[in-house]
Amino acid sequence: MRRYIAVDIGGTQVRAACYPASKLKSIKIARTTTQATDPEDPVTSPLERIQNLIASIWPADGKVCAISVAAPGPINPYQGILVEAPNIPGWINVPLQQNLSERFKVPVVLGNDANLAALGEWKYGAGKGHHHLIYLTVSTGIGGGVIIDDRLLLGANGLAAELGHTTVMIDGPLCGCGQRGHLEAVASGTAIANWVEAELSQGVQSILPIDKPVSAKRISEAAQKGDKLCIAALARAGHYIGRALADFLHIFNPSIVIIGGGVSKSGPLLLDPMYKAMQEHVLNPHYLDGLVLTTAAFGDEVGLVGALALGRTTYPDCRSKKS
Ligand SMILES: [Zn+2]
Repeated sequence: MRRYIAVDIGGTQVRAACYPASKLKSIKIARTTTQATDPEDPVTSPLERIQNLIASIWPADGKVCAISVAAPGPINPYQGILVEAPNIPGWINVPLQQNLSERFKVPVVLGNDANLAALGEWKYGAGKGHHHLIYLTVSTGIGGGVIIDDRLLLGANGLAAELGHTTVMIDGPLCGCGQRGHLEAVASGTAIANWVEAELSQGVQSILPIDKPVSAKRISEAAQKGDKLCIAALARAGHYIGRALADFLHIFNPSIVIIGGGVSKSGPLLLDPMYKAMQEHVLNPHYLDGLVLTTAAFGDEVGLVGALALGRTTYPDCRSKKS
């Protein structure tokens, strides 16, 4: 029986799983830290660590259709190059596809993790049956993926759908990318925490614990308990995401918008203001006809599921690359 290997590379952790030809439950799964942290495990090269991890779950009969990899940051999926990996120092222009295919002698495909999360939700999750989909992940940053006409939007260099880096506030707060006023700089988990900290420093009252760092998770918990400042912080983020979503509706006209990432777990406190702002800023109500706004089906595992979706979509019968 042929199998697919999916790999999810994160800044701190790498996961790899072996899947059967059609089901979603993995046969074998393993994880390691992206960089050496344990003296018992001294391999320092992230590439070698990834290779070792894949080897550890490789099926005994060696029958693998493809390896598919989800990686953070800009990727060139056509050339199989990881252009730059945030949080992995020195990882610039890594020819990951070539490296892994030479080592394991099977086809290798590569994709940006947020793009592949969109693909995973579309193929196996909340977006099943839709042909036009927008996926937005709101966590420490904001990432996105777009499916149009049943195809993942990649762009000329594979850099499309960076929905979090859309300007929503001219000359606004500094974004992690170095530009100002991007959605990520205003409405990500990090941005929500920064805004709450600024309000606290102005003397605004809150039930947030003063002895612990302010985080999006703590803000969400305090908001659920009725804390006015934290409710306002989530509503503010939701508002900006909703306004950006209205723009995305104008550009892509999807039938479903899926919100994933840790901050989406705040539920209606984030999603209601988001939906309201989206409705208020859409240029024509027909964009909302039949539109589904929902949260993601997958949590943390979406990187592996997305990579799996890429592998199976690209090599559906283990031989041909889908055009
Ligand atoms: Zn940015």
